[in-house]
Amino acid sequence: MQLKTILNRVQKHRSFVYGPARFVQGARLTIEVEVRARANARVECSGCGRPAPRYDMQPTRRFEFVPLWGIAVFLVYAMRRVSCASCGVRVERVPWATGKHQLTDTYAWFLARWAKRLSWKEVAEVFHTSWEKVFRSVEMAVEWGRAHRDLSGVEAIGIDEIQWQRGHRYLTLVYQIDAGCRRLLWVGQDRKVKTLLGFFRWFGKERSAALGFVCSDMWRPYLKVVAKKASEAIHILDRFHIMAKMNKAIDEVRAKEARDLKAKGYEPVLTNARWLLLKRPENLSAKQEPRLAELLQYNLRSVRAYLLKEDFQFFWNYKSAYWAGAFLDRWCTRSLRSRLDPMKKVARTLRAHRALLLNWFRAKGAFSSGAVEGFNNKAKLTIRKSYGFRTYRAMEIALYHTLGALPEPKLTHRFC
Ligand SMILES: [Zn+2]
Repeated sequence: MQLKTILNRVQKHRSFVYGPARFVQGARLTIEVEVRARANARVECSGCGRPAPRYDMQPTRRFEFVPLWGIAVFLVYAMRRVSCASCGVRVERVPWATGKHQLTDTYAWFLARWAKRLSWKEVAEVFHTSWEKVFRSVEMAVEWGRAHRDLSGVEAIGIDEIQWQRGHRYLTLVYQIDAGCRRLLWVGQDRKVKTLLGFFRWFGKERSAALGFVCSDMWRPYLKVVAKKASEAIHILDRFHIMAKMNKAIDEVRAKEARDLKAKGYEPVLTNARWLLLKRPENLSAKQEPRLAELLQYNLRSVRAYLLKEDFQFFWNYKSAYWAGAFLDRWCTRSLRSRLDPMKKVARTLRAHRALLLNWFRAKGAFSSGAVEGFNNKAKLTIRKSYGFRTYRAMEIALYHTLGALPEPKLTHRFC
């Protein structure tokens, strides 16, 4: 079977034919396949896509195709230029590549698909190509996917912030968290009022008005923007962010107490106890369980903070907002008397956001409540895997690619 036969099977073009294929021995062995235009087929302008008269011909260009048995394959073609009535002199449009790209669209989609399974660096290594080319391929896939995705029927969104790079640089991520459809919708730099306004501007007035539920943490700029731009929606402070805040408070109490104990020369019972206090008891390992039990025997500030947190977990089990509210009030009173400053701070914050907190019970079951936490973990993993992503652009593209559930075009043949 000839290479031509295979190419005609996987990717046939109406106005072009494949010519002979040959080996080329350079630094690496490659295969070149000649492409010719059909004599009487019309030539199209790459600017507007309309047919136009031929102008001249350019030197041959090589377009990288999907490799065969580890050998790089190039389509070789001399582009013609057209003299278009509306665009002037332009290069012709070819069906296998877009713009000035050196990769064929098929190969770019191939690399982008692999980039979902491997890191970009690994994809570049496996297919003997550059990081830059993998990046450009993923970027192309993301741009196509974002332009072609369906944004109708979004009822519930979750807003999350994530730290990236060292120092205090944040990203704002907005997810769709409807029970049937969960995906990343939007990424923005920073976590300011302006950032989230950017999301609503992009999302549009009509779609924003149709939102039923918005989940977020207590970050003031977010609260402000949501109240203004999605005033019809029930705004929920979700469990994940509240418990994260509480864990942060416990960690503060523990760190300070550990330092105090050390200074006073006591037994270092709190050393390596961080995760004992931060994990849910059911998630402890068999080794950690007895250690926690032992730790709880001590009359420590950290233990008191831990018990307050664990007690708060009952809040989420209530069915009625009324009784949950009563529980919340009792819990806050108790925490305010605890003489643990970080916990008192949490109690004051919760009290200030009582109404939004109780919205959790009004919205129960209406959206996928674990979704924000799941996405948060996946986004952090994407960022952590991304040593190569020094720029915001690369980070943004990677997040959309892994979390966006973006559509892909239907190609005649799936290469992977
Ligand atoms: Zn044109």
